[in-house]
Amino acid sequence: MATGTELKVYRGVWNRQHMGGTIIQVEAEHHRLLFDFGFIYDPGRALLERDIRERPLPLPDLIRRGILPPVEGVFPSRCLGEQLSLREEVLPYEALSGEKKMMVAISHLHLDHMAGMGWVAPEIPVLLSQPSARFYDILAEVGEGVGPVRPYRGVPYEEVIHHGPIRFSFVPIDHDVPGAAGLFIETPEVRMVYTGDFRCHGARRQVTQEFFEKVRAFRPHLLFMEGTTLSSPEELPEEDLTRPDPLDPPFQTEGEVAEELAKAFSHRGLAVVNLYLRNADRLRSVLQAAEEAGRMVLVEPEWSWVYHRWWGFWLPIYVARPDAPETALPPEVWQRPWFQEVLSQAPRVGAKDVRYEPHRFLIQNSFENFWSLLDLPTEGGIYIHSGGTPLGAFDPRYPHLLQLVRSLGMEYRLLGNHGHAAPSHLLKVLAMAQPKVLVPIHSRYPERLAVRARRSFLPAHGVTYRVQAKELSQMGR
Ligand SMILES: [Zn+2]
Repeated sequence: MATGTELKVYRGVWNRQHMGGTIIQVEAEHHRLLFDFGFIYDPGRALLERDIRERPLPLPDLIRRGILPPVEGVFPSRCLGEQLSLREEVLPYEALSGEKKMMVAISHLHLDHMAGMGWVAPEIPVLLSQPSARFYDILAEVGEGVGPVRPYRGVPYEEVIHHGPIRFSFVPIDHDVPGAAGLFIETPEVRMVYTGDFRCHGARRQVTQEFFEKVRAFRPHLLFMEGTTLSSPEELPEEDLTRPDPLDPPFQTEGEVAEELAKAFSHRGLAVVNLYLRNADRLRSVLQAAEEAGRMVLVEPEWSWVYHRWWGFWLPIYVARPDAPETALPPEVWQRPWFQEVLSQAPRVGAKDVRYEPHRFLIQNSFENFWSLLDLPTEGGIYIHSGGTPLGAFDPRYPHLLQLVRSLGMEYRLLGNHGHAAPSHLLKVLAMAQPKVLVPIHSRYPERLAVRARRSFLPAHGVTYRVQAKELSQMGR
């Protein structure tokens, strides 16, 4: 006999301070599916706590610091630590494994959605879309893996996974990272859709459009939809919520971004661009724009490796001294097994060549490698900030970056678009999806979306809800 469907939100709703990635649990007949498993992204705090050493057992501290919520039955007891009182507070995997069958699904590879997945007990399957799983493996090779090493399973888009009575599939949606997906979930009592993060102005707008057409055909009772771009009524007046296309920055299309990049690259002197490694679409736009502007793109060795593995061709690398790369690169780069292959396969350009003809090159530079710009003729050049860290004014390193760029005699330009759907687009897809009940999540102001839906529901953190006759009722904490 069916025991009903239960829902519990560990993170992702109703929070003015931070949005934190979504961690939601659906349970039916002793089977639990958790979707997304990220950390809270707080660069200000990370900077202030940078000098505090991580202890040998980091997980209990991550939970106590609120970076991960105390999710029941997923963390192995050896990681929770026996000597800590915390162990009583958080039921370890072993304590629940006889009763509940757990599974975790990850919508996309942004840290606020996946940085905690390495801490999930290795016995619990962690599933990603097939392209996400492949991209993650590549990121892990260059040291971008998260938490302890464990297996992950890549699932083709739209393939239905059976987890006891819970059935679900990864459905592609457009976001600024390869492999992004939403989830279509069905239990004996309820159909629901989780959008993950998405946008309607990106390089694959059509994919998002199709996603919401599929949502409509699926007729979900619950639609968990992100609302990252919703801000306060002072910052975003009510009339702007419905402001129609065309959208201004930061919601211009990826094609418009590429055009602006090409214009910026026609600037005299050296051009430097600060990008985010996981945004493959932006790197494509940069390559295209640089070609138009007649500049050769030189990337950091990790980037050449990652995109050789992802796209199958080698991007030329910049190393200050091509004859002795280790003199200008940190050991964690040149000691890696992939580095020798990059060195033997990718074309190399050194500081001498760039100094000779700076206008012929475009240098990709991550903030952590900022000092390598000191080898280059930066005076009179342009620094284009397009999605790399520090991401914006909420990061205390941001004003300092501006100062550093100025100190090199470069012009600073912020150029890019938002990874998330514009408010007016959120309303548009909501109208298209027509869910019975909207559950706005991953937002500081979810209520602004809630009032726009036919019916909506704002769950509280840590409360278990039961779905009965397609309605939600509270069961307590
Ligand atoms: Zn995201």
